[in-house]
Amino acid sequence: MSARIVILGGGTGGTLTANRLRKALPASDASITVVDTDDRHVYQPGLLFVPFGLADPEDIVRPRSRQLHAGIEYHQSGVDGIDIEAERVTLADGAVLEYDVLVIASGSRLVPEETEGLTGPGWLDTVFTFYDLPGATALAAKLATFDRGRLVVNVVDMPIKCPVAPLEFCFLADWHFQERGVRDQITITFVTPLDGAFTTPTASSTLGGMLEERGIELVTEFNTGEVDGAGGRLVGYDEREVPFDLAVVVPVHSGAAYVGASPGLGDALDFVFTDEHTLQSNVKPNIFAIGDATGLPVSKAGSVTHYEGETLVENIQRFLRGEPLDASYDGHANCFIETGFHKAMLIDFNYEQEPVGGHFPTRVGLPLLKESRLNHLGKLMFQWFYWHALLPGRDIPGITPEMPVAGKDHPADSAT
Ligand SMILES: Cc1cc2nc3c(=O)[nH]c(=O)nc-3n(C[C@H](O)[C@H](O)[C@H](O)COP(=O)(O)OP(=O)(O)OC[C@H]3O[C@@H](n4cnc5c(N)ncnc54)[C@H](O)[C@@H]3O)c2cc1C
Repeated sequence: MSARIVILGGGTGGTLTANRLRKALPASDASITVVDTDDRHVYQPGLLFVPFGLADPEDIVRPRSRQLHAGIEYHQSGVDGIDIEAERVTLADGAVLEYDVLVIASGSRLVPEETEGLTGPGWLDTVFTFYDLPGATALAAKLATFDRGRLVVNVVDMPIKCPVAPLEFCFLADWHFQERGVRDQITITFVTPLDGAFTTPTASSTLGGMLEERGIELVTEFNTGEVDGAGGRLVGYDEREVPFDLAVVVPVHSGAAYVGASPGLGDALDFVFTDEHTLQSNVKPNIFAIGDATGLPVSKAGSVTHYEGETLVENIQRFLRGEPLDASYDGHANCFIETGFHKAMLIDFNYEQEPVGGHFPTRVGLPLLKESRLNHLGKLMFQWFYWHALLPGRDIPGITPEMPVAGKDHPADSAT
């Protein structure tokens, strides 16, 4: 009997999972259907560059359906709900898809309306986000003429996609204003709910030091209660205020609304309860999740989604054969951190190992937690890898799902 595999979401995780599965399973063994709301696949790391005129908005978008290999059905519609017991999905266009295996790959969505005032007076005038394409494009026009005043970059709450992206924005803003000769007329302040620049101690200390060196003020443990666009101030729940002339805000993230509507599937933020090592959902054995849609304690990053994909595809096949699942996903994540001036850093970590110095992937390679031109080239080349290797489901030589230990200065097991 042919298995019906339905994948909800045709972004990074849904696309690479569908393509890897299609290669692994002949059409006689499984049908694969991917569902998404639109046909515009955005290369999201490129959103960072759009506000600074370093990327053209249309150059980071490709048709979603064209990223899927032959033999994969693409159904363009929103997902309305899942009937977990009856094993079927209801779509916004009225279609009903029955499944034997369901993959939830619907990522995270921005919910700016959760924060008082954020989309009120000042929105897209003095208050912006670069976390989606319309926001990043509008911000580009604003930044091009912003030449004096207070720029505030604010993360409202965690978790967010790519937790380093707001820091990268600060570094690029510093570089951009220096290039335009207006840096001394502009203050840059990074306002975060965390107790430091980043989530883990070593990287937090390194990145915090870099902010200081560049004259970027850091405001920590700030829980934004209101964005007052008309008055030009962030207001914290503890009544602290941060004034601004231009605010770049990363809004609250949540999972897809249909997850919340399916009892037992997701947490309070609609992220799917998922096994840390197998990617199987906790609610039903034939439901799996990948990428930003999971509630796992990992960064919401394309690299995480990529590494998870290998375990997930193996486990879908094992599930269909009735075999025990592979529990090998170790929380591996890596991110380039663009720091301006044609340089970038790289961090590599997993559930046990915080980002530390050294090299990736072995003792020789890209420098970790250190600025270099090589890392900047790696960040730029990643867009090519994304479309031509990662999404098509090709293996990248030397890059394994398991976090490499060899090049790390302080591997977790020897650091304790
Ligand atoms: C500014 C920015 C910079 C980033 N930089 C990096 C970086 O440098 N490195 C890195 O690794 N990662 C980076 N990321 C994060 C990375 O893009 C995401 O983590 C990755 O795309 C997650 O893949 P995903 O498949 O889980 O979600 P997505 O790729 O977002 O795909 C989810 C898909 O589900 C669809 N969907 C959602 N709800 C529904 C519904 N109800 N019905 C139908 N379809 C639905 C959406 O339309 C979307 O296509 C960045 C993200 C941003 C915003």
